[in-house]
Amino acid sequence: MSRLMVSVSGVRGVFGESINPMLAMRFAAHFGIFCGKGKIVVGRDSRKTGPAMKNAIISALLATGCEVIDLGIVSTPTVLLAVEDHNANGGISITASHNPGQWNAMKFVSSKGMFLFPEDANEFLAKIDTEIEWNDWENQGSITYDYDASLHHIQKILNIGWLDIANIQQKKFKVVVDCVNGAGGVIMPALLAELGCEVVELNCEPTGLFAHTPEPLKKNLVQLEEAVKQNKADLGIAVDPDVDRIAFVDENGECIGEELSLALATAYVLSRKKGDVVTNLSTSMMVNDIAKKHGCAVHRVKVGEINVGKKMKDIQAVIGGEGNGGIILPEVHLTRDAPAGAALILSYLAKTSKKLSELCNEIPKYYFAKKKISLKAEDMDRTMQNASTLYANLECDKQDGYKYIAEDYWIHIRKSGTEPIIRIYVESPSVEQSNKICDETIKMLQNGL
Ligand code: MG
Repeated sequence: MSRLMVSVSGVRGVFGESINPMLAMRFAAHFGIFCGKGKIVVGRDSRKTGPAMKNAIISALLATGCEVIDLGIVSTPTVLLAVEDHNANGGISITASHNPGQWNAMKFVSSKGMFLFPEDANEFLAKIDTEIEWNDWENQGSITYDYDASLHHIQKILNIGWLDIANIQQKKFKVVVDCVNGAGGVIMPALLAELGCEVVELNCEPTGLFAHTPEPLKKNLVQLEEAVKQNKADLGIAVDPDVDRIAFVDENGECIGEELSLALATAYVLSRKKGDVVTNLSTSMMVNDIAKKHGCAVHRVKVGEINVGKKMKDIQAVIGGEGNGGIILPEVHLTRDAPAGAALILSYLAKTSKKLSELCNEIPKYYFAKKKISLKAEDMDRTMQNASTLYANLECDKQDGYKYIAEDYWIHIRKSGTEPIIRIYVESPSVEQSNKICDETIKMLQNGL
C-alpha cells in the first residue's frame, strides 16, 4: 500500500490507495481558504483519474466560495502562467508529473504564478486537518472555462523578440515530438507548427495511457530515437506528462541526455544576452563551463524547483533550471517550461546553422556516479558529521549536506529526507574517476562509524 506523500511541492499518491477524491477535496477546500478565495485556476494532465480528481477539487473550491477558472487538459507551466494572466489568487495543477499512470497529485500555485514557497506551503499544510468552513447556499463560488490558455502560452513564447522566430520558421526543421500521451499533446505540436516545423507526432494523444515509462530519460526514449532515424528528422523532442521537463534526441537518433537540455539552453541564452544563471547543487558543471566562457556567474541553490525560481527572481537571472531537463526562461515565467525549452533549442539551431550533435560536442563532457549508503537511523548524524570534514582542502557548499568542489570534479553528500540513507553524487570528466571518487568517499564515511 503506498503512502500519501505530502511536501512543500504538493501531495502525491497512488489513486485509490493513498490519494482519492475525498482527500483531494480536503486539500482543495483548505487551499481555497488559504488563498483568501477569489479566482483559483485549475488544470490537469491527461491521466485517467484526472476527471475524478478535477471534479472533486472544483467542487470543494466552489463550496468554499472560490471563482474557479477551469483550463481543461494543460501543461503545468500553462497553469502557472494562467494564474498570472488571470491575476488569480492561486492555482492547482492536477498531475503526478513523470510518475506512472496509477499516480496522481496536486501541485499548489501562489498568486505570483509560482509554486508555493516552503514557508507558505507549511502554513497551508499545517491547517489541513482542521475543520473546513463550507459556505452557505447564498455564497457559493462560480466556474468559468478558459480553453485558450495553451494558445496564450504559445503566444507568449512567440512574442520573445530575441528568439528570432522568423529565422526558425525559415529552417523548416523536421521534428519528431514524443508527448507520451500526456498533456504535451495539447501544446507541443501546435507550438512546433507555429515555429514552421514539419512535425511528426509520436504519442501525442492526451489519453493518459502512457506509451512508455514517462520520465524523459534516455532509457525510456528508444521509440523516439528510432522514429528520428526513420523519419530522417533534424531532432527529436520528449516531454514528461505535465510538460515541465524536456529531453532531446540528435539528428543521428541519439538521446543526448537530460542534463544537456539546460546546458544547451544556457549556451544559447548567454550567447544572446549576458546575465546570471541559477541552477541546483546537483546539476552538471557543464553549466559552469558555459557561463565562464561568457563571463557570467552561476548561482547554485538547494534542490527544488521553487528554490531555483526564487533565486532567479531575486537576482534577475537570464536563464536557470535543473539538470533533469527543467528549463526556466524568465521572459515566459519563473517555472520549468518544456515549450520554452523547445523554442530555445530550435532558435539555437537556427541561429548557428549547426546540427544538434555539433552543438553538443562544443560542451565539455562529464560523467556522474550516483550511489547511496543505507545506515541505522542512529548512525546518520555521526556519518554526516564525518562528511563535514572529509575533504578539508576543497571548497565546501553547505546549503544541502556537503558539496565539495574541486577544479574539474565535485562530490555531493546529502541525507535523504525520508529514509536513513545518505546519497553520494560525484561528477568528473570520466566514468572511472567518478566511480573511484564515489567509492573512496563511501569507504571513508563507513570507516568513520
Ligand atoms: Mg513534470
